[in-house]
Amino acid sequence: VCAISPKAIVSDACASYSTLDDLNRNLRPSLLDVTQNTDFFSYYRLNLFGKECPFWNDSNGMCGNIACAVNTLDNEEDIPEIWRAEELGKLEGPKATHPGKKLQRERPQKPLQGMLGEDVGESCVVEYDDECDERDYCVPDDEGTSGKGVYVSLVDNPERFTGYGGEGAQQVWNTIYKENCFSKASFPKSASYGTQRFPLQGEAATQLQSVIRERGRQQALAAQQKLAPETPFVAETGLEFEGECLEKRVFYRVVSGMHSSISTHLCFDYLNQTTGEWGPNLQCYKDRLHKFPERVSNLYFNYALVLRAITKLGPYLQDYTFCSGDPCQDATTKAKVQALTTQAGEVPQIFDESLMFVNGEGPSLKEDFKNRFRNISRIMDCVGCDKCRLWGKLQTAGYGAALKVLFEFDNSSEDVPVLKRTELVALFNTLARISSSLEAINQFRVMVESEESTA
Ligand code: FAD
Repeated sequence: VCAISPKAIVSDACASYSTLDDLNRNLRPSLLDVTQNTDFFSYYRLNLFGKECPFWNDSNGMCGNIACAVNTLDNEEDIPEIWRAEELGKLEGPKATHPGKKLQRERPQKPLQGMLGEDVGESCVVEYDDECDERDYCVPDDEGTSGKGVYVSLVDNPERFTGYGGEGAQQVWNTIYKENCFSKASFPKSASYGTQRFPLQGEAATQLQSVIRERGRQQALAAQQKLAPETPFVAETGLEFEGECLEKRVFYRVVSGMHSSISTHLCFDYLNQTTGEWGPNLQCYKDRLHKFPERVSNLYFNYALVLRAITKLGPYLQDYTFCSGDPCQDATTKAKVQALTTQAGEVPQIFDESLMFVNGEGPSLKEDFKNRFRNISRIMDCVGCDKCRLWGKLQTAGYGAALKVLFEFDNSSEDVPVLKRTELVALFNTLARISSSLEAINQFRVMVESEESTA
């Protein structure tokens, strides 16, 4: 395995799909053991219902299907004891309090503990809703709305087809992709759509090209809507620009790869509304992924990126208390996490984050990159389907945590950012989602081959 530079196209010989598939097959049992067989990683706390969409009135985009519903853990007895409100109250105290920004500044942290809090396991302390670090790539989910969090069992609420779609979903994806339009745009020389350069023909293409050159992407997207409204989706056309800086390209790949993973899950665990049976829907896969190699490539790219973040975090987790209130279970959780990170650590570095935010306009783009990613996490409150919102929020939090580990965490520095329990849970479950997607894609490929061989 050689390192995947953020520039690489994952289907390059160096970072081939098969290399990452092999890696995934080896790591998958340990990853599933961590995410499905431990309380720590299978319960997620989030603000699922308490926040309004900050961008538009979303009351029309709500999904009423039963498949959109989420079973929350309303009964305290279903929540591991240590995380119940009453127990959390008891833990508040000078020692167990979250270090917080002020305290972090006053008390330099030991490198091995800083990332995950001090003295006590981060998971044993009350997570204050307004704790926000300027190094976060995600808006803390409970921001400003104390106590609105719910616990959800991720195992009991699998990500799958819900029937959510239409204008509401389209508006969310559209807004997400528009975040990719960085303000400091370097004007591209040409644009491509999938593997094709300029799907637009004639006058519209010429006009659009000149708008892109002269005025940047924001206006180009608006112009495209006017000039060629029949083009399938405004964002995708404007995204693959030649000569685009690395950081913007990575931003797009992360978002598109997340979208691919969501599409893969809904196609693989699809409800046949005629028979009432759940199962893979090959046509769905063909329409959303197979025809778009770049989307699949972005999914593999995300696998490399998130796995690298977890590997980087591995040594810091050795001293972490996976607090569930039961010491025996905590030790088992730790052993499972170590089995995974040790195995992942044996693989040569698969993603090279050191190339980002260093050259050209790179350093100045970091704040912009972070703010845009935070905005994507805010947009998740506009998703009108509870189940989709749950997984959308978890995955943006997971990618946010991965980016924080990759870009804010310097091995040589003593001042390392803190990761909350929810960030850890999101990070590991996000990798598990991508891992399942790779497996599903492989199964879909076999189905396509067998269909083609019998045709
Ligand atoms: P969409 O998937 O809505 O895509 C819109 C447009 O984006 C496409 O026309 C295409 O031009 C472009 N596009 C598509 N994929 C990519 C990609 N990978 N990279 C770049 N561009 C792309 N539905 C479920 O059934 N279950 C879920 O769990 C679920 N979770 C969701 C989570 C979120 C955050 C959102 C916003 C939606 C979710 N949905 C879910 C809905 C689902 O994603 C689709 O929006 C819906 O199925 C309608 O699909 P569509 O064919 O209109 O294309």
